[in-house]
Amino acid sequence: IPIGDAFDATVSRHGDREALVVRHQGLRYSWAELSDQVERHARALMALGLATGDRVGIWSPNCAEWCIAQFATAKIGAILVNINPAYRLEDLRYALNQSGCQWLICADTFKTSDYHRMVLDLVPTLANSEPGRLNDPGAPELRGVISLARQPPAGFLPWRQLDDHATRVSAQSLHQRQSDLDVNDPINIQYTSGTTGFPKGATLSHRNILNNGHLVGESLGLNERDRLVIPVPLYHCFGMVMGNLACVTHGTTMIYPNDGFDPETTLRAVAEEKATALYGVPTMFIAELASPVRDEMDLSSLRTGIMAGATCPVEVMRKVIDEMHMSEVQIAYGMTETSPVSLQTGADDELERRVSTVGRTQPHLETKLVDEHGATVGRGEIGELCTRGYSVMLGYWNNPEATAEAIDDQGWMHTGDLARMDDQGYVRIVGRAKDLIIRGGENVYPREIEEFLYSHESVEEVQVIGVADDRYGEEIVAWIKVRPGVDIDGDELRAFCQDRIAHFKVPRWFRLVDDFPMTVTGKIQKFRMREVSEQSLK
Ligand code: ATP
Ligand code: MG
Repeated sequence: IPIGDAFDATVSRHGDREALVVRHQGLRYSWAELSDQVERHARALMALGLATGDRVGIWSPNCAEWCIAQFATAKIGAILVNINPAYRLEDLRYALNQSGCQWLICADTFKTSDYHRMVLDLVPTLANSEPGRLNDPGAPELRGVISLARQPPAGFLPWRQLDDHATRVSAQSLHQRQSDLDVNDPINIQYTSGTTGFPKGATLSHRNILNNGHLVGESLGLNERDRLVIPVPLYHCFGMVMGNLACVTHGTTMIYPNDGFDPETTLRAVAEEKATALYGVPTMFIAELASPVRDEMDLSSLRTGIMAGATCPVEVMRKVIDEMHMSEVQIAYGMTETSPVSLQTGADDELERRVSTVGRTQPHLETKLVDEHGATVGRGEIGELCTRGYSVMLGYWNNPEATAEAIDDQGWMHTGDLARMDDQGYVRIVGRAKDLIIRGGENVYPREIEEFLYSHESVEEVQVIGVADDRYGEEIVAWIKVRPGVDIDGDELRAFCQDRIAHFKVPRWFRLVDDFPMTVTGKIQKFRMREVSEQSLK
């Protein structure tokens, strides 16, 4: 069924139960109240002339309106284009033009700069009679901007006033529109994280993401008594699919702790809302574990959650289980292009498997590992991970060349990740093909060295990269964030490695840092680390 129908089913089943809590806005909605908001905004968007297949960009940190817009657009079959709130003028222009957005929904505040200025720069001529309509958009297809601000400048259509438009479209016409939708129609364009370069717009259908959200929730055992804290951004599939859609398909309460990630507000949300589940990328859990307020917070209501998006260090996973009460926490592996999750551990998998693998293939999907010639490798051998099934995206929006490179003619999505699979089908991610270090002819997997360095008590976070080197082709650099108050240098770390790991795996350089270059989803951008290291080594 289309996403809007799945939403309605939960509303009729759980109407009075809590659906959404937005802590930083002080808002709470039951399913019935949320449904009322969604319906009115869906009708208003129809009144603005949005047809099935039209694109609506949303450029905002997490907020209630994000969730409402997600389901309102799903109901009318308009394609929601998730735009990273960290995007600045040029990236925004790129995303709007690349996806051909007709309307843009724009946040009221961004942490770093004045968004009105940026949108005004983007859309030069706003001298206009009809509010929200643009005469000469800087983006050719853009017809207007809806602002979430309380008092947007002239030329922007205030979100608060969308209600006035809703009355122009009857509930009947909305239901008609909804029943004409096809589950294989595109409903969402999501840009990949940009961990390895320029983000690409994955086009996803109702069938792709609704099923994925449902199965992720199934595997966590979510139900209407569960309360999930979602500190990950909604603009990313982790938030909108694994978060919102998993909750909507299981009647679970969605809790947004903040409009950006912060360990303290996340832990506070868990404690005060008596949450049963929590999501995060590894760096978020690392920050929560290190937070000085953790001891004051009662986290005993937690049962489960997902750590995903990047390699999850074994030590971190153990601490999340032991110290954050998340005895059933799972690891998931996926990518935007596959809706996202394709492998997941199960709550009943033994601990060792849950901390060291990304689990097995999700129901209704296939996985294979191939060598550089496309031949399937044996169990235990390293190959490129490929996924096939319902979750594979329709394609990259307006980019048939990139689509053809990623999805082969048998429907396999080539992930660019290296992995190995054991006899029972459990998969270990070895790293990205792009991050593999080839030093003097030896393949060195950064993850192996990272896992090793995590065993050093002074190391809070570590990332290993390869940089160009005249002698060996590549040399190994480890970036280390040490625990607060600890005094340690590269020589000591090097001595720690010697005799414990093979000599060719010992990093040539150690760089002590406070932070790593990151995407807003909290993923570390190794390509930027390489740029910085290569520059400083010159
Ligand atoms: P881009 O494609 O723009 O470079 P990205 O690949 O980080 O960015 P996403 O689609 O958000 O964009 O992330 C998918 C990638 O994240 C996977 O290809 C994989 O490299 C990594 N990943 C996801 N889950 C895990 C996991 N559990 N363990 C290790 N790596 C993971
Ligand atoms: Mg990718």
